[in-house]
Amino acid sequence: MPEEMKNENKSVEQRNEEPVEENDSAGADKKVSIHEISCSNCGAPLSYMEGEAVITCEYCGTTTMLAGFDNIVTVKSHYLLPPKVGRDEAIGIASSWLEKGFYRSKNLPKRVSWKKTEARVLPYWIVRCTGSTRWSGMQKRTRTIGEGKNKKSETYWEPVQGRIKEDYTWPVYAREDDSEFWGIRNLEPGKQCVFPDWGKFILRFGGSKKARNINLLKDKKDFSIDDLKKLNMQEHIINGQIVQERAERSARDRIIELHHDKAESKATRITDCDTTIDVQGVDLVYVPVWELEYGYKNKIYHILVDASRQEILSGEVPVSKWAKATIFDIIFLLIAAIFAAIGGASDGAAWPWIGAGVFGGSAVVYSVWTATMKK
Ligand SMILES: [Zn+2]
Repeated sequence: MPEEMKNENKSVEQRNEEPVEENDSAGADKKVSIHEISCSNCGAPLSYMEGEAVITCEYCGTTTMLAGFDNIVTVKSHYLLPPKVGRDEAIGIASSWLEKGFYRSKNLPKRVSWKKTEARVLPYWIVRCTGSTRWSGMQKRTRTIGEGKNKKSETYWEPVQGRIKEDYTWPVYAREDDSEFWGIRNLEPGKQCVFPDWGKFILRFGGSKKARNINLLKDKKDFSIDDLKKLNMQEHIINGQIVQERAERSARDRIIELHHDKAESKATRITDCDTTIDVQGVDLVYVPVWELEYGYKNKIYHILVDASRQEILSGEVPVSKWAKATIFDIIFLLIAAIFAAIGGASDGAAWPWIGAGVFGGSAVVYSVWTATMKK
């Protein structure tokens, strides 16, 4: 034992002897310039980082967009989902979510420790539009031909076509990097937004969820800085980097992609797919969120709470041991039943009964182990 201790000390010493790199060039890479303009409404100084182009005044709430050289405009179509919950209430919403459903444990909220919490008021462009797609393609089908002995099946191709038409209030996050804050990238419609943590368990069935196509404009109000001040969130407004025109283009591209994927699921081969997008308007909406971090069994998990709708937007959650045991038991008992059925049908062969015993027994052992394992 002392020998090991010595080795450990030695390695620490060695590490200390290594020269500490004073790296100037690395510092230069991270350099961000802070610029300043005056609020066009109240005259307050608005400071912003390099690359930011949608800047909201934290005093009066006016939003200024730097749409290009010498093109500074005030964003008129400018809304807020008024925040309704502070930090503690956000934790309350997250706690009740943690115990909900088959995959979670009722005791989970009592056993987690809440760590960092961050308030953020996130900028979104909402592109109100209708996407219409006409597609055509070929569908592979099979049919049976002939009679009696000559009966056989053959495949043939049939031309198919269709239309997809849908209205969208498509959200475009107004910043370049959607990984800079946790959970933002999970909010786009269709993306996975609930992440069950199975640990080492292999039979992973369900528990995850995809983000809905929610209308961020629903329950919107005209942007009011006072609504944010009530919950002290005005200092947490995040400036946008993406200007309106780019947001519109991005929404078009994504919807075209989405419709193409939808068309592809409807035929074996798509030969033609044409989407037109009719944009009715583009609005800026600020969405207040709470990013919560909690610890459970030496792991860190995240939850993003919508401070306005008071619901979970995205979250990570450990799967309860009983959910795992139930899944394990169902699968193993099914296999045991199959073996038993074979055993019943065959004439006295021993192996099916051994199989049934092994799988059935495993299910029982797993349940017992689950019941007795420590927290
Ligand atoms: Zn102002």
